[in-house]
Amino acid sequence: MNNKCLWCLEEEPKITFNKKAHTIPKSLGGQNYNNNICDNCNEYFGNRNCNNGKYSIEEALKEAFNISRKRLLNVGKTKRKVGDFKSKFFEIKQRKGKYRLTIKPTFQFKPGFQKDLCRSFKRGLYKMFFEELNRQKKIGYESKYDVIRQYARFDKGELPVLYFNRAYGIMMMFNREAETPILYFDRMNYLHSNEKFSEIEFLGHVFGFPISEFNEIDLKKYLGESIKLKKRFFKDAVIIQKMTDVDITLRIMNDK
Ligand SMILES: [Zn+2]
Repeated sequence: MNNKCLWCLEEEPKITFNKKAHTIPKSLGGQNYNNNICDNCNEYFGNRNCNNGKYSIEEALKEAFNISRKRLLNVGKTKRKVGDFKSKFFEIKQRKGKYRLTIKPTFQFKPGFQKDLCRSFKRGLYKMFFEELNRQKKIGYESKYDVIRQYARFDKGELPVLYFNRAYGIMMMFNREAETPILYFDRMNYLHSNEKFSEIEFLGHVFGFPISEFNEIDLKKYLGESIKLKKRFFKDAVIIQKMTDVDITLRIMNDK
């Protein structure tokens, strides 16, 4: 049987599968790859052309999550240097053990920058989710997932991504998880998924998003059920509009 690409749905020999496609970017410590991603689609997510040559979808992911990663790797170390958090887009300030995240002044006043970066980040989340879903569960070719293909791979439409704010800074992390991040679908029983929505946990962050066509009633129903399930551990959920809506620096770990 010819290999069929999860994203563009084309088959060999029209397309090739020569390169290793990491599901979670290698620059984030990802080690798994998906054999069903063609070379064109693989290259697309690492290509800067989607943002006027400035940054790729993978870079938007890397810039954000590497901050969380480093924050987690630093836990337990007495001296935390702000200098450890190097980022192209973000500035991290530390005061009295608390971290504050802002967009670097050079980008701050560029019209549309925040919005574009956030969109790339969201599309990157879908990329990791979809490629891992396919790798772990052997699904994804069904037409119900076309909304994901259209949004993440072909930059069409808009999808809401929810971020769940934790109530406490205690989270379950496996040994070495910050070094080699894993994307979880159902590790914790507060993660809620149904036919139309799915949730993931990644580096201590919990996101929820639609995975197929949905309407306002579906969204309300899903959100109601999800929040009920999370009551003990999370305080609220926000639809992310800008990167700073996500607790990238894991400020929550400092709150007493
Ligand atoms: Zn493809």
